[in-house]
Parts: sequence; structure tokens; C-alpha cells
Amino acid sequence: MAYLGNPGNTAAVLNKHGFHFQKKFGQNFLIDTHILEKIIDSAEITKDDCVLEIGPGIGTMTQYLAERAREVIAVEIDKALIPILADTLSEYDNVTVINDDVLKVDIAKLVEERNNNRPIKVVANLPYYITTPIVMGLLESHVPLDSITIMVQKEVAERMQVGPGTKDYGALSLAVAYYCKAEVVTIVSPNCFIPKPNVASAVIRLKVYDKPPVTVEDEAFMFRIIRASFQQRRKTLVNGLTHAADLNVSKDQVLEALEAMGKSESVRGETFTLEEFARLSDLLK
Ligand code: SAM
Repeated sequence: MAYLGNPGNTAAVLNKHGFHFQKKFGQNFLIDTHILEKIIDSAEITKDDCVLEIGPGIGTMTQYLAERAREVIAVEIDKALIPILADTLSEYDNVTVINDDVLKVDIAKLVEERNNNRPIKVVANLPYYITTPIVMGLLESHVPLDSITIMVQKEVAERMQVGPGTKDYGALSLAVAYYCKAEVVTIVSPNCFIPKPNVASAVIRLKVYDKPPVTVEDEAFMFRIIRASFQQRRKTLVNGLTHAADLNVSKDQVLEALEAMGKSESVRGETFTLEEFARLSDLLK
């Protein structure tokens, strides 16, 4: 089987199987060898690695991953792609395709069964409609992870790297800052895909820290605070937190914590750094 990462071979596979793109699944297949090689190189995959690929499509990147890794687990939601993957990946005996919604897959169990609970590498050209739940889910679930190397919308890659005071700053930026070191590998033009997406893309590599850069007593509680703070950006932090159903903190408690931090009553969550959210979380706990 020839490599798929070019327009001619991709069109041949699509025609052979009579495949129709499904917009609802965010299907934009990569047709640029150069970009594929950049993704694979930056993911630093070795024959020791177990790789999770989210949304293999027709198997374009899966072929590269299968050659570099010990084992690849590829989760694809679209059942029309399963027979195509059986065809394009027939030469590889180290790939397992799972036909499911990745948000419903028990990834921790997969890591335990397939990699003895050692950290896996996630590599994907992500479906853009669910980038945030996929990334937040992976990071917050504490699945043993080495790194996440993903194609995302350029704007989302930016959101993953911004700090306080910018309009794109939010729960995703803070989760990335808490769990990993982020590095943009390359910007990718819509011309590198079929069909072309409406937006520019970027490959970003998130290398997961052994130990987060700040210490907090209860991580899950801190992220509930973070989410509540950004739920309604226009609200003050005091209002956002006291109205959050899953926090159970009183106005007086929040005011007391803010006072201890030397912050005013009218402060907004979007001005808080990760360190400040950690401190607030410990004070409210
Ligand atoms: N990896 C292929 C490539 O680079 O050419 C395809 C990438 S395409 C942007 C995203 C893929 O994710 C599609 O194959 C789509 O069907 C799949 N997908 C969409 N939603 C999914 C979900 N919830 N779980 C698993 N796969 C999903």
C-alpha cells in the first residue's frame, strides 16, 4: 500500500470505497507529506511507544505512526471509515482500530491493558468541533500521558498559550499551563487538507510535566473554581463563584479569601494567574 499523504493516493482510496465526507465529524484529511513528517518527528515516537491516535480518518497518519511506534490504538467514530482503515492498514500488525466516540472510551483502561500503565503518547489531527473536551478530558483524567501532539485550529493553539488579561484566556489556557509545556510546531495552511477547512491550523505539542509548576491541595476543586470564574466573563469573581452550583462557597468565604490575597471585591477571574487560582483554591478549601 502506497503512503496516503498526498492528493492522488487519498482521492484513489476515497473513490475506491465510495466515501462521502461527514461535516458533523470534522473530517479534513491531511494530504501533505511534509506536514505529516513534521507531526511525527515532533512527537518523538520510538519503538517503545504505545500511541493513541484520535480520529485516524482513512489512516494517513496511522501508517506513519505504525512504522515508528511499537503499537498504535486508533479511535474512529465514523463506521464508514472502518473498512477503509482495514484496507489501508492491512500491512501493519501493530494497529488496533476502535470504532467509537473517543469521549466515551475508557482511555485509562486502554493504557493499563496495552502499556502496563506507562505513559502513552497521543498524536492526532483532531476533529475541531471537540478539541477542548478532548484535551481537557485527557489532562484532567490523569491518564498516564507523556505528550499530546495535535493539529488544532490556529486560534485554539493560541488560546492554549495565552496568559491573564487577554480575551482568549480561559480554562483551557490554565489547564495547559498547569499540566504541560506547550510549543507550537508549525502553522498549517487550509491547502494541506481535503476538504479545505475554513480556518488556519497549527500543530501544537503539549509535553506533560512530571510535576505541575504550582502546588495546590485539591486540583479538581481548583479547576471547578477556574471553570466557574470564566463561565460568565462579565461577572466579578465573587458573583461567579457564589453562584456556581458545584462549588458550595458563600459570598463571605470568597470575600475573606480575596482579602487575604490583597484583591478587591470587584476583581474578575480573567486577571488571575495560575498561582493565584491555586492560592484561592487552597484558601477556600
Ligand atoms: N487523521 C486523519 C487525517 O489526518 O487525515 C483524519 C483527521 S480529521 C480532522 C478528524 C477525524 O476524527 C475524522 O476521521 C473523524 O471522523 C474523526 N472523529 C470525529 N469525531 C470523533 C470522535 N468523537 N471520536 C473519534 N473520532 C472522531
